[in-house]
Amino acid sequence: MSITPTSPPTSGVAPNFTDYDGERSRFSWSAIERRLGPAPGGCNIAYYAVDRHDCGPQRDKVAFRFVGPNKGAGELPVTEVTFGDFAHRVRKFTAVLRGLGVGKGDPVFVFTGRIPELYVSILGALRNGSVVSPLFSAFGPEPLATRLRLGDAQVLVTTEQLYRRRVEKIRDSVPSLRHVLVVGDAGSITDVPDTLDFHSMMVDADGDCDITPTCADDVALLHFTSGTTGTPKGAVHVHGAVATHYATGLFALDLHPSDVFWCTADPGWVTGTSYGVITPLLHGVTSIVDSNEFDAERWYRILEEQAVTVWYTAPTAIRMLMKSGPELAHKYSYPHLRLIASVGEPLNPDAVLWGRDVLGRPIHDNWWQTETGGIMIANTPGFAIKPGSMGRPLPGIDAAIVRRTGDGGIETVETPNVEGELAIRRGWPSMFRGYLHNDDRYRRAFAGDWYLTGDLAKRDADGYYWFVGRADDVIKSAGHLIGPFEVENVLMEHPAVAEAGVIGKPDPIVGAVVKAFVSVKTGWNADDALRRELLGYSRKKLGASVAPKEIEFVEVLPHTRSGKIMRRLLKARELGLPEGDTSTLEVGG
Ligand code: AMP
Repeated sequence: MSITPTSPPTSGVAPNFTDYDGERSRFSWSAIERRLGPAPGGCNIAYYAVDRHDCGPQRDKVAFRFVGPNKGAGELPVTEVTFGDFAHRVRKFTAVLRGLGVGKGDPVFVFTGRIPELYVSILGALRNGSVVSPLFSAFGPEPLATRLRLGDAQVLVTTEQLYRRRVEKIRDSVPSLRHVLVVGDAGSITDVPDTLDFHSMMVDADGDCDITPTCADDVALLHFTSGTTGTPKGAVHVHGAVATHYATGLFALDLHPSDVFWCTADPGWVTGTSYGVITPLLHGVTSIVDSNEFDAERWYRILEEQAVTVWYTAPTAIRMLMKSGPELAHKYSYPHLRLIASVGEPLNPDAVLWGRDVLGRPIHDNWWQTETGGIMIANTPGFAIKPGSMGRPLPGIDAAIVRRTGDGGIETVETPNVEGELAIRRGWPSMFRGYLHNDDRYRRAFAGDWYLTGDLAKRDADGYYWFVGRADDVIKSAGHLIGPFEVENVLMEHPAVAEAGVIGKPDPIVGAVVKAFVSVKTGWNADDALRRELLGYSRKKLGASVAPKEIEFVEVLPHTRSGKIMRRLLKARELGLPEGDTSTLEVGG
């Protein structure tokens, strides 16, 4: 089954991308780079996103509408920031960093909610040639400290509340940290020792500070992603990625200057940075930022009140909206909505159709990951959607289904509908350029010309890709990638825990919930009190988005003969599935 695209009659715009084969054959990355033009030094994301728009009528156009907390009746409160005002603040933040002696290549981390200062800090740091890493504000102290240490953070921008709750506890464990800038909860900060007041520094900073020249290969962003073993991996991205951000904004998100665009992802995740910050700015469109967490009615209200035209969201959110029932959706109307796209987890065909039937637009699934830096495969408004498929590779992107041959090589699978690993041909501009401090892991991610994504997929005879699953044990919960190892480590720090094995337990709404199997040390009772204690303990250390939701006590965990916990087997047992090949299982596991 497929859904043929149509534009709502009121939209008045034609899709950017309708001729799939023609556009792919005409396409070149250098043409996109020419369209962006030269920047000081060659290429700088902030130059294209900010400086370029600080002139003419564009200066007075609204860049961001920050939607604040609900205040009873009436429309939701909104704070608007124009492109001109934003550019001024960004230049000031560049000056703040420069004044602190923070320069090109120095790592600047941002750990705040979705407040204007987050956006100013990201762009101001990019403009300064510094390397930016936004971290998710729901992280507990452990994931926060791990990432700051791995990334050799020199500067951290955070809020007063997060400083007191999370940062203060771990600050001493990050020796590289030179400056902590704190955004006061109510204006300037009071009584937060050894920190700098973000706002007073901004007041004194030079609003005309120039940009640091950078080139396409200079490092711009650091995004952490989870693996099955070891600490999180820091994926390194360069300024040249901007060509992908721009092109995908054109082809996959179909951005037009008149659009009101809402990306619901938090900039603490790669989607929120690439598409919640950079891409809408590149295209000079007005972007919605919601400061609050998910709330079905609030989201419908935002779509209506803000007259959102292009909406980029995630399957978990869509399923939660579906669960809240059609009546709630029908209390509001969405005549302006032209395109809905979704990413991060498999999007069930029901959800695609729900979009069409309830919101008036089908949902366009697309695929990418932290390492790819931008959308690679998509259902776009220019061609028929096959519900359940991730779509087709965008112009400039070559994808393949491959099989590893065992000698480090691969062979491509040409027959349609045969499962293999999804691979992307090297060379797209937003390809990650390394895993921080882990060259070996980076090298192993490639075979010849191909980047191996770790996802299993199939391609059908029409060239559409279909997601099958992950080739490894990482967990996708509510769209967030969670490394089981990071969770197991924290559990094992608890004095009662002998061993822990963590899996994703399938869940109809969030895709998978984190479930831990725990064996306890002698002398401890594996009872409800201990379970509650461990749940609370991991929540405090890891934060609610990463901590396990379920804990099951077991006598022993299954191990391989080499001592690794067999998570695959835990999962098979949990689901009542065949245990598969257990020849490497240690006797007694
Ligand atoms: P992250 O690096 O956190 O963005 O997670 C990337 C992973 O999310 C991919 O490797 C996939 O496993 C999963 N993913 C992303 N988009 C999709 C999609 N459209 N369908 C299925 N899985 C997806």
